[in-house]
Amino acid sequence: MSEELINVSDLNQYAYCSRRYWYLHFYDTQGRNYERIEGKTKHENQSKRGNWLNELYLESARLGLKGKIDVLELENERIVPIERKRAESGQYYRSDEVQLAGYCLLLEEHVGEPIREGAVYLYETDQRMHIPITEDHREAVREQVEAMQSMATDSVPPFTDNPKKCEACSAREYCMPAETARLEPEKARGTGWEDVI
Ligand code: SF4
Repeated sequence: MSEELINVSDLNQYAYCSRRYWYLHFYDTQGRNYERIEGKTKHENQSKRGNWLNELYLESARLGLKGKIDVLELENERIVPIERKRAESGQYYRSDEVQLAGYCLLLEEHVGEPIREGAVYLYETDQRMHIPITEDHREAVREQVEAMQSMATDSVPPFTDNPKKCEACSAREYCMPAETARLEPEKARGTGWEDVI
C-alpha cells in the first residue's frame, strides 16, 4: 500500500464520486476548476473573522491523513471543528460529513481525547449545522483512505451510480459520461449511466 497521506478535503471528492477524485488527483484539471478556486477565495476572505482558532494543519501517518481544519471553536469545554461550505442548495451532504469525520479523527489524535461532534457552516444561508460523528463515519474514513491509497494512474474508476451528480461536476468535460455511454455503452455498464442514454 502507498504511504501517501490523503488530504481530508479529498475524502469529500472521493465520497462524491471516486471517478471525480481520480480526475482531480491524476489529471491536470486544476486550472479550470471553478468550484475549487471559488471556494479557496471565500476561505481566504473569511479566515480572519471572529475569535476562532483558524486553519490548524494536522497530519498522521497512522491514519494516512493530512489536512487543514478551517476553524476550531471551544464550546462548553468541547472542541468543535467547523468546515465552511459553499452550497447553493443550502444543504450539506454525506460527503461533507465524511470530510468532517476525517478532521475529527486527526484532531482527536492531536489532543488525545475523543471528538464526537463537528459542524458545517453554510455561507449561503449563514447556518451552522452540528453533526454527531459516529462509528459509521469513522469506518467510512478508514475505508476511503485505504481505497484512495490503492488507486492507480492507469485505472480510472467507473461512472457514478447517480448521474444527477454529473450535472454539477467540474470534471465532466474530461469524464464525458453521456458521450461515453452513447458511443461505448459497455463502459457504462453497471453504473448509473447504463440506462440514461
Ligand atoms: S461527471 Fe459524473 S461520473 Fe464523471 S467524474 Fe463527475 S460525477 Fe463522476
